[in-house]
Amino acid sequence: MGAGEFYLEYGNFDYKVTVPYDHIVVGSGKLMNPKEVLSKELQNRYEKAQASDETVYLISPEEIKNTELTRPKQDGTVTWHFQIENSRDVAFATSRAFIWDAAKINLPSGKTALAQSVYPKESDGVGAWTRSTEYSKASIEHYSEMWYEFPYASATNVEADIGGMEYPGLNFCSYNSKGAGLWGVTDHEFGHNWFPMIVGSNERRYAWMDEGFNTFINHYSSNAFNNGEFPSNLNETRRYLNYFTNEAREGIDTYPDVSNVGNLGMIAYNKPGMGLLMLREYILGPERFDNAFKSYINTWAYKHPLPQDFFNHIENVAGENLSWFWQGWFYGTGNIDLGINGVIPYAGNYVAVLSNKGEIPMPVLIEITFENGTTERQMLPVEIWQRGDTWNHLIKTTKVIKGVTIDPDKILPDINLGNDHWPQALYQN
Ligand SMILES: [Zn+2]
Repeated sequence: MGAGEFYLEYGNFDYKVTVPYDHIVVGSGKLMNPKEVLSKELQNRYEKAQASDETVYLISPEEIKNTELTRPKQDGTVTWHFQIENSRDVAFATSRAFIWDAAKINLPSGKTALAQSVYPKESDGVGAWTRSTEYSKASIEHYSEMWYEFPYASATNVEADIGGMEYPGLNFCSYNSKGAGLWGVTDHEFGHNWFPMIVGSNERRYAWMDEGFNTFINHYSSNAFNNGEFPSNLNETRRYLNYFTNEAREGIDTYPDVSNVGNLGMIAYNKPGMGLLMLREYILGPERFDNAFKSYINTWAYKHPLPQDFFNHIENVAGENLSWFWQGWFYGTGNIDLGINGVIPYAGNYVAVLSNKGEIPMPVLIEITFENGTTERQMLPVEIWQRGDTWNHLIKTTKVIKGVTIDPDKILPDINLGNDHWPQALYQN
C-alpha cells in the first residue's frame, strides 16, 4: 500500500517454484531439495558454504553459463522447494544470470544460518556486490547478538532494479549500490527482519515502528561493522534542526500514505530513530534501555503491537513514567529548547538558572567547567519541570565555576543552541 508497504498475519509457508533447468532460485526460508536442483559439484560447494565464515562462490562470475558444472540436468524444468515458519510472507528471485555466493551465519544459541547473495556480472566487484554476503552475515549476526536471534534458515540479498525492499529473510537491493551505499541498504533491509518481520508492527499506520526502529538498530550495526568502516551519523541529531523548525514539518503520528512525501524520511525513519537514540543515550542509559527493548522484542515477537504496547512495555521494564517523552516526541510537532539563563554566586556556592522554552520537557545533563580546568557532570531529572518552566539548580562547590554547558555530548536536537551555554561568549556555536 504505497509508502505503507504491507501488513500480514503470520503463517507457515511450503512453496515450490518451477523454472527452466538453467535458472537459479533463491527464496525466503530453507531450500528443502538441494540434491534435486544442484549438480554434485554445487551440492559440495553449498555444504562448504554452510560451514565457512569466508564467502564461498557457488557460481563464480566465470561459471554463470557453465550449466554442465552447476545444474543437475540440461533441459526441461526444475522445481525448487522452500519452507519457512512464523513468517508474514515469502519472496523469491530467479535468473539464469546470477553469480551466487554464500557463507555461514553464527547465531548466539550455537545454531547457524546461511547468508547468500545473487547478482549479475554488472554488479560484480570488491567495491560492489562481491562483499554483499560479508555484509549480510555481519548484519544478521549483529542484530542476533544485540537484540533477538534471527529465526530463519537463510538471509538472502538479491540485486534488483529498485533502491531496496525487504521481505522475510530476503531483500532486494539496488544492482548499482557500492561500498558504503551497499552496506547501508543491505544492513537496513536485513534490519527489517526484526521490525516488522519478527515484531509484527503495522507499517500501514505506524511506519515509525518499523522504519524508525530499524533506523535506530542500523545505527549500532553500522558502527560495529568492521571496526567502523561505514560509521553512522544518526547521533548527530543537530543536522536536522532545519526540519524541526520548518513550517511544513509533520509529526511521527502522521499515517505514511497521507504524509507529505517529502516528510516521510523524517517522520518514519529519522525522527523516531533519534527518539530511541535519545531514550538509550540520554534518558535511560544503555543498560536500562537495552533490557527494556529486548524484552519488548521478545514479548511481541510474532504478534502485532500498537504504539501503546510499545510505550507501556518500555515503561514497565525500565521502571519509569515516560509519558512526557512519548507525548512530546511521538505526537505532534513540538520541539526541545532547554536553556541556561545564568550562573549566580549564592551563599558560597552557585545557582544555575535553567529554563524550558520548548514544548518537550527533558532531563537536563549539565557539564560544569571549573577555573582549575576540571569538569563535573550532573543529571537533573525531567521532574524539575513539573512546577513550571524555570528551575534554580544549586551547585555545591568550593571551586570557581568558569562555565556550564547543557547536553555536552550533543545528543538532543535542541532548536536553540545559543542558550545552551553559560557564559554565552565562551561557547559560540
Ligand atoms: Zn526500510
